[in-house]
Formats: sequence, structure tokens, C-alpha cells
Amino acid sequence: MLFVLFVVKKVRIVKPQSVLIELQPLFEKNAPKALANTQLRRNMGKATQTIRGKRAAVVDEMPDWEALREAGRAIKARTLRHLDSYLLQLEDSVTRAGGSVHWARDAAEANAIITRLVQQQAREVIKIKSLTTDEIKLNAALADAGITAIETDLAELIIQLAGEHSSHILVPAIHKNRAEIRELFMRTLGVAELSDEPTALAAVARTYLREKFLTTRVAISGANFAVAETGTVCVVESEGNGRMCLTLPDLLISVMGIEKVIPSFQDFEVMLQLLPRSSTGERMNPYTSLWRGVTPGDGPQEFHLVLLDNGRSDVLADTVGRQTLNCIRCSACLNICPIYERTGGHAYGSVYPGPIGAILTPQLVGVEHARSLPFASTLCGACYDVCPVKINIPEVLVHLRGEVVRQQQDTGGLRAALEPENLAMTALAKLFESRLAYEAAQQAGKLGQLPLKHDGHISWLPGLLGGWTAMRDLEAMPDETFREWWAKRKAEG
Ligand code: SF4
Repeated sequence: MLFVLFVVKKVRIVKPQSVLIELQPLFEKNAPKALANTQLRRNMGKATQTIRGKRAAVVDEMPDWEALREAGRAIKARTLRHLDSYLLQLEDSVTRAGGSVHWARDAAEANAIITRLVQQQAREVIKIKSLTTDEIKLNAALADAGITAIETDLAELIIQLAGEHSSHILVPAIHKNRAEIRELFMRTLGVAELSDEPTALAAVARTYLREKFLTTRVAISGANFAVAETGTVCVVESEGNGRMCLTLPDLLISVMGIEKVIPSFQDFEVMLQLLPRSSTGERMNPYTSLWRGVTPGDGPQEFHLVLLDNGRSDVLADTVGRQTLNCIRCSACLNICPIYERTGGHAYGSVYPGPIGAILTPQLVGVEHARSLPFASTLCGACYDVCPVKINIPEVLVHLRGEVVRQQQDTGGLRAALEPENLAMTALAKLFESRLAYEAAQQAGKLGQLPLKHDGHISWLPGLLGGWTAMRDLEAMPDETFREWWAKRKAEG
């Protein structure tokens, strides 16, 4: 069944609470706690600066980087314009290659499909790092059905053993340092002696996971891309755990958001140059696994692809917000963001942190459930500059901020309308509507500032306006406006 909406319209984004975001304190409440954690800030600062530097170096060596970005944007935009056709083509290609395709409207449907498939064969599954499965809270759904999910990506394993949530799209344990990981492994994996050297830590995880790879018969993955014309599914990763999961088990289930489809195999040429450089700062991913359906005698003999909507159709229907679906989850916007660098990912209260989370989460769950996220940005635009598929994140943030304000006005009635900020904005809107009113306000402002003005500056303002001058001086209004100066200049000939 295909349920993607293709009505191009401006939508009011109001949806039921999703499993994507918990009822958690707002970003403005989470952020001060994160800022007070000096260890977290040190870890985040070091990690993001390192990845930023690596990315900049490999991007700078590409003379056609801007052309590649534009090509990536164009591929995604074209795909989204014809998403219904490409998804049906993908279903057909995967089925012809021996796989099965399942359509899931939301998290509950996806979890039910996957649980049913696993239950027929196993009580334990190995998993490749997948944000989409985090989004639908698959591990918890499997646990409810008595099935244990084992994360095989090193950072995901650390997070799972610690009972925490990921704080970065690409480096989920970015908030943890080596000493913390050593202590965690000794406590949870029963290791008596362990140094905090990376090789020693990796060796412990390797020993634990190797046994799981060799004995578990079912694997679950996400998907970075899936090609409509061939049915090829692609997973890129750095550790080789993904390759193990994709080749050793008998049953493979891949869960993919509907926006991950790309039209043709040739599109990999662009995407596989953009993604590794933007994410890990590498020219190529160490492991790029591509497979089509089922090959007799080679790899998993049963393959299921679960196509997940979970709010994406609504994002697609919003002409401004739609570009969010271009995202290839590289995390470059996180690493460059001054807000994310200081607060870390947990402050966002969602599996999608940072700038992409600030625009994706409110659209997936409804802005009323994540209304502070569009404001978790300085609108500096650094995220737009680094995005490999040119998502104009500041534009979407401003669009969503407008939606938050409109919703508050709609639901808050007279009380909301009388809030000082709303009163001020309403008055300003009226002023800007009329040239006469605007010019009268300018004259009034010039007169009103006289008792406050010293040496061309205002250092103190009364009442609510005092917030502005508490930290900085305000430039006084000039004696003459531009229009007055222009008129005088013309009169003088
Ligand atoms: S929004 Fe752009 S920069 Fe951020 S994760 Fe997605 S593709 Fe990468």
C-alpha cells in the first residue's frame, strides 16, 4: 500500500505524540544542565573540532565540491518530486531480486512487522547502527516481545551497555571519554584488568561481538540509500561490523525511511563522494556494502525491506520543510554548530540532535511537541554552508518558529495575544504596514530618546527593554533618516 501524500500545500503541522520524542524537559531547560557539565563540554569540544578539521581538509581538496553539492541537492529534490514512482519501482526491483517489501505507516506498524519476522526464527538479533530503528524505538519493542537486540557498532554498544541514548548521529558516544568507557566495560563485560588505550578497549568489544556475529541468525540494519532501478540497498560504515551483520545471518531485515530511495545506480557517484567527506572526513568509507535481494548460497537467504513513513509524508507536503528530507545523515551540521558543540546531543531530547534535529524532529512529531527546538539556533548559517545536499536549515528554522508562534496564538487566545512580546510584535507589524505610521514612530523615537542619549549611545532602557542594554549599549537613532537626507540632497541639486 502506498500512502505517501503528494499534495503540494502549506500545512499546519499538528500530529499525535510520536515515539520519536519523549515528554521531556524543553531544550531551554536541558541546555543549562548540559552547559554545567564541564567534562561533557570538554569531550564535545575536542571531538567536534577534530571532525571539523578532518572534513575541511578533504573537502578543500575537491575542486568541484560546490558542483557536487548542487548535484546532490538536485538528485534528492527530483527524487522527492516523484517519490511515489520511485518507491513503487524500488518495491518491484527488490521483489524481483528475491526480497520482500513491507510498508509501515508509523513506528507501531514497523515494530510489529519486524517483531513478527524475528519471532519466527530467533530470540536474539544483531544490529547495525541505525537512527531509523532508534526513531521507532525498535529495541524496546523487541524486548517487550522477549527478543534481545545487540548493537554491534562500537559506540552504539557503549551506549547500550551504559543504558543511555545517543548524543551524535555519527558518533553516538561522543560525550564519553576513554576513562569512562574503560570503567563501563569493566563493570558490564566482566573484564578484571583493562587499560584505557583505544586498542585495548576495541579488543574487549571485538571479543564480545565476535561470538555474537558467529552465533546469531537474524540481523537488522538501517539503509543509507536504496536504488529504485536495481533494488540495491546500501549501508556505509567504518568498523566492519555492518559487513558481518549483512553477510553471516540467515535472515536480514533492513528498515529505511521512505526518503532514502535514490533513482539510479549512477547517483551513487555523487552520494558516495559527498557522504564520507562530510561525515567522517574521509575520502571513502572503509566499508560500503551493497546488496540486491537474495543470492542462493551466498549471504542471508531471506531479506525483508521495511519502508517507513512515520510522519515523512507530512514533511513532504510542506513546501518549505520538504528539503529536510534531503538529509543523508552525515552530521556535518552538528559538528559545525556552536550550540550543539556546547550542549551536546541529549539536550535536544530526540534521536536527531543538532541543527538537523532542530528541524526534523518538530516536523515528524508536530511542533507542539518540540516547540523549543526551532529556537535552539543562532541562525548563523554555518550548518547551511557545510550541508552536502544544501538544506537551508536556517530557512526551515524560521519557518518552524513562525509555526510555533501561530500555534501559540491560536491556542492561547486573548492571554497569548496580551503577552508583552506578542503585543510588541503586533504593534511593529502595524507600524511596518503604513509609511505614515512608520515615519511618525521615527519622529516619536527621536524625541523619546533625548533624555537617554549620551555621546550617540543609549546605555540604559527602562522596563522590559532593559534586557537589551543590560549587556551592551544601543546605538541612538540618527538625527536624520535616510529618506530625509536623500530628500535634502535632491533639493540642493
Ligand atoms: S542536514 Fe545536511 S549537514 Fe546535517 S546531517 Fe543532514 S545532510 Fe548532513
